[in-house]
Amino acid sequence: MKGMMQDWSLVVPSLLDHAAREHGDQVVVTRGVEGEIRRNTLRTLHARSRRVAKALDALGIREGDRVATMAWNTDRHLELWYGTMGIGAVCHTLNPRLFADQLVYIINHAEDRVLFVDASFVGVIAAIRDRLKTLERIFVLTDEANLPARVDTESGAPLEVEAYETWLASFDEDFAWKTFDEQTAAGLCYTSGTTGNPKGVLYSHRSNVLHTLAVNQTDVLGVRAVDAVMPVVPMFHANAWGLVFAVPAAGGKLVLPGAQMDGASIYALLDEEQVSITAAVPTVWMALLAYLDEHGKKLPHLRKVVIGGAACPPMMIERFERDFGVEVAHAWGMTEMSPLGTLHAPKPGRDRAALGEDIAHKCKQGRAPFTVEMKITDDEGAELPRDGETYGHLLVRGPAVAKAYFKRPESILDADGWMPTGDVATIDAQGFMQITDRSKDVIKSGGEWISSIEIENLAMGHPDVAEAAVIGIAHPKWDERPLLIVVATPGSQPTEASILAFLEGKIASWWMPDQVVVVDEIPHTATGKIQKRTLRERFAEHRLPTG
Ligand code: ADP
Repeated sequence: MKGMMQDWSLVVPSLLDHAAREHGDQVVVTRGVEGEIRRNTLRTLHARSRRVAKALDALGIREGDRVATMAWNTDRHLELWYGTMGIGAVCHTLNPRLFADQLVYIINHAEDRVLFVDASFVGVIAAIRDRLKTLERIFVLTDEANLPARVDTESGAPLEVEAYETWLASFDEDFAWKTFDEQTAAGLCYTSGTTGNPKGVLYSHRSNVLHTLAVNQTDVLGVRAVDAVMPVVPMFHANAWGLVFAVPAAGGKLVLPGAQMDGASIYALLDEEQVSITAAVPTVWMALLAYLDEHGKKLPHLRKVVIGGAACPPMMIERFERDFGVEVAHAWGMTEMSPLGTLHAPKPGRDRAALGEDIAHKCKQGRAPFTVEMKITDDEGAELPRDGETYGHLLVRGPAVAKAYFKRPESILDADGWMPTGDVATIDAQGFMQITDRSKDVIKSGGEWISSIEIENLAMGHPDVAEAAVIGIAHPKWDERPLLIVVATPGSQPTEASILAFLEGKIASWWMPDQVVVVDEIPHTATGKIQKRTLRERFAEHRLPTG
């Protein structure tokens, strides 16, 4: 027997309609790419998004066509998302930090028809324009007056660009969203793919809406209408972790930081806009903490900082909670998961006060909210116990988890519909998950696994260590042994002896790195993760003193 309830489609435009209808006066603050502060409302976001939809429709963009953006978190970028999705077209976010060859591959593979680019990235596009086959028009997200000066492509011809505001000016907002099935594609984001070509994750309207509801559960981000939320995590990094949907859905105030991601600029917005929730990768918070220390500033308005994308060092959790009274929510996710996987929030017996003292527990990446299922398995696929000690391959399932990549027919799921994440983790009896490594980064020593993340986290607690990476080096007796690579904090000269002494007693003796080397810089991926593969290549010929 079927239920007798309405067929109310789970589509993104209905989310924006709700935001404008119920929270129309709510403010959207943007630091524009030119540095100016713009204040709009959810009502104007709704109106401008419909203008974008109308203009794209007039351009001949049809359902399923890909519209690319290479832009910072701004009001213009936001209205482009909603406008594109409102006609059933696919909004394809490009990460400007990718290598030129990767960008060329991605844009051609996606068959992007138009591109909207911030003035900051016009040079990036000019350098590859001659190799982009499907691109018909390029709009710079600015007005005529701020259009960048002539930039040449590789062939020497000027890059042809148009001013976004000029294009938009000839359209009004008198436009009804197109209607389409909730399974229609809405967004496309390629994972940087440390091996092989990047792979496109194709989100649907339904997955975006369900992800939004998941994000807004109280124990996840639980955005309220009285919150001011600043996604520092870029919209091109896994949908700004869903915040650009979740905040308007809840009627909260969005604060969009634009191009300025340094400590001073981030602090200025946190303070002036009284931001209560913010989110970004650890490197952003390193810069903010340094700024706060240097200028003796506090964070009186901030309630919660979400840290994810890479393991959050314990010292960062401690500093936010102890020195600034800000709750840290450590989170884990991936592009394939829209991206929310887990978030750390209290459970009975682990209340907030206890958690503040228990930094080690907060280093766990958290627990799965409703709509995310997860489990760990051994190499043969047998489920492993939730005891907080046994580690295995982490697999996930849910309505906002990918089942295949764009234009690749093969499923990425196992026979039971689970997606292997490529991460290795433990899950404890209360359901708290902890990533120990990416499967390709684990160090196999004498048949046992050593967690590189745990050693890195501990090493970063040493006052002379700014950043740390641990990789496995081939060893004649043990297969692999850990090499600890560190970057010194400014002005310090860390020694191997003092770092090893610092680790002594904090990890099992057989986990102790066989050697510590100090380097000037550790390479990062376009989403701010340590590039272990590059490090392994660099140290391919390295011989440990023990081997
Ligand atoms: P890309 O590698 O393209 O940047 P993602 O941003 O989707 O792809 O990265 C997802 C991966 O990032 C996860 O599988 C995991 O390895 C890592 N990751 C994300 N959050 C955390 C975290 N809090 N702690 C440790 N690793 C994390």
